[in-house]
Amino acid sequence: MRIGIDLGGTKIEAIALDGSGEELFRQRIDTPQGDYRATIDAIVTLVQLLEAETRQTGTVGLGIPGAISPATDLVKNANSTWLIGKPLHADLEQALSRSIRIENDANCFVVSEATDGAARNADVVFGVIIGTGTGGGIYVRGKKITGINAIAGEWGHNPLPWPTADEYPGRECYCGKLGCIETWLSGPGFCNDHQMHGGKGNTARDIVILAEQGDEIANTSLQRYEDRMARALATIINIIDPDVIVLGGGMSKLTRLYNHVPKLWGEYVFSDQVITKLVPPLHGDSSGVRGAAWLWNK
Ligand SMILES: [Zn+2]
Repeated sequence: MRIGIDLGGTKIEAIALDGSGEELFRQRIDTPQGDYRATIDAIVTLVQLLEAETRQTGTVGLGIPGAISPATDLVKNANSTWLIGKPLHADLEQALSRSIRIENDANCFVVSEATDGAARNADVVFGVIIGTGTGGGIYVRGKKITGINAIAGEWGHNPLPWPTADEYPGRECYCGKLGCIETWLSGPGFCNDHQMHGGKGNTARDIVILAEQGDEIANTSLQRYEDRMARALATIINIIDPDVIVLGGGMSKLTRLYNHVPKLWGEYVFSDQVITKLVPPLHGDSSGVRGAAWLWNK
């Protein structure tokens, strides 16, 4: 049995999968905000619950909104800031009395979709999570690529490529730089850009509904968004040339992206034609937790 835990900023989700990937049990609890020790205890309690419910012991994989620094073995880059600098890996292994595997949540997402999801059987896969932030993960021929600095796939804090005059230098990002891809493509970034252009609606969903009702401002906001996504993904295609790009997170629910963005990216990719596929996730919001469980696939 494989246990996966997705440690999110507001929820911790746990899943138990059998050998073929069938879900045996699932539980979701609130994340203890700002409390490191309580976060450890919550994860241990979830593992105990899953093992009691299934009457089996399992391997444990954990997805976190950040990474374990290979240099220090401490958490870095986490937007759940109370985890930063903590020896989460060592503390959890001690508390659970076993080896565990920890990966960035976007890497877990791509592991899930490449293992038995929308990118199953693809050679090279880029997984993107676009919600309140923008993360990415790379999977090549049966293996995730973590990278020597544990940041492979972290494209969200590169600058938006091919900026127009009114996109440059761009808004300030929480990372300290200007014009990061995340400030344009995240859900809040999209809504902000739309409102700056005098648009109505407070969420991406509102804006899509307005566009479908014929609102021209909403439609042009979506067109700008799609062109930015095409440019941002074109740089990924130019580097790793993936077979499939899987979108996850809240913005992956905008179904028009799958049709519109691949029509735009050809202008930016250095190739005569682009046959890369852009697809929605098969496992939806469950991909993070399923991918954490699949960290023990090999
Ligand atoms: Zn940034």
